Amino acid sequence: MQWCATCATGSGGWSRRQFLLALGQASLAAGLLPRAGQAYTIMDEAGDVKIGREADPEILKRFGYYDGPDLQNYIAQIGQRVAATSDTRFSFQFKVVDQAAINAMALPGGFIYLTRGMLAELNDEAQLAGILGHEMTHVNSRHAAKLLTKAFGAQLATLLGVGAAAASGSGAAATGLVMISSHVTNYMLLGYGRDYELEADEVGLRYAHRAGYDPRRMVTFLRALRRTEILRGQSTYHGFEATHPDTALRIAKADTMATLLVAEGGALEVKADNYKAHLDRLRYGEAKNQQRLRVYTVKAGDTLGSIARDEMGDEGRRFELATLNGLRDDAALTPGSRLKLIVKQ
Ligand SMILES: [Zn+2]
Repeated sequence: MQWCATCATGSGGWSRRQFLLALGQASLAAGLLPRAGQAYTIMDEAGDVKIGREADPEILKRFGYYDGPDLQNYIAQIGQRVAATSDTRFSFQFKVVDQAAINAMALPGGFIYLTRGMLAELNDEAQLAGILGHEMTHVNSRHAAKLLTKAFGAQLATLLGVGAAAASGSGAAATGLVMISSHVTNYMLLGYGRDYELEADEVGLRYAHRAGYDPRRMVTFLRALRRTEILRGQSTYHGFEATHPDTALRIAKADTMATLLVAEGGALEVKADNYKAHLDRLRYGEAKNQQRLRVYTVKAGDTLGSIARDEMGDEGRRFELATLNGLRDDAALTPGSRLKLIVKQ
């Protein structure tokens, strides 16, 4: 998985070049380029916020804001609940974007995006809180600013020149801007490198736990995502290549962290049924397939097979149903609990 965001290169994805240029403009407007006397500080926290604010409309234009006010409100509500535990200096915004890819990402300054594909993949509020906590950590720890400083710290003098030239609109300046914004875009799309991703996992789990959620659910999600990616042969979320040895290490570390947090005590909410209730009618997969999720309430005597047969028209789809809901295909179902089904619109 591309930890924190995958490059949406397929249909419906954004244009990388256009985004780079837009982000470059945002960076320039925000004064991202270093100024004299600011050695080794490429941008400050106010700069983070300005960049986020400038680039946010561009993200929404490229990905599409998902038209679902209730869902948007719900995600924002859980996001604020987790943010309140994070001792943050930033004011967060949470938005669902209309993309089928399984993805989440953060812009500097507190702008966090989840794709509808990610929401369809998650099975409870605790997992959602884990993802949100991970993204918030990239913002709070200012990973983009730190990596930019590392990448450009030695070139401040040159970049000062580039910044001045950019203001006058020269071609060389545009190249310099694209160089910087391409770094930011790569962090957003491909993750922030092993150390920062591990930090985001660890701190993000702590935020989720402080907000009252069971951190083990996030680990369950990571394991399931890794299996899904190996099956599909593609990576999805945050620099997390399913077959890469670092990925196994990362899951193991998250598992250890979750165990430690649980040992500390505190609430361990999961809230699966409440989460799934908010996914009813969520668009699913590529738009051209015209599929949506439907939330089904389990009745006495139901099995995955009977539900697949009666509600999805094919008993063989019980495997798909099990995977989608994070269940084994022989799982016993609890009457009254909720399942996600995939149906034609
Ligand atoms: Zn990340």
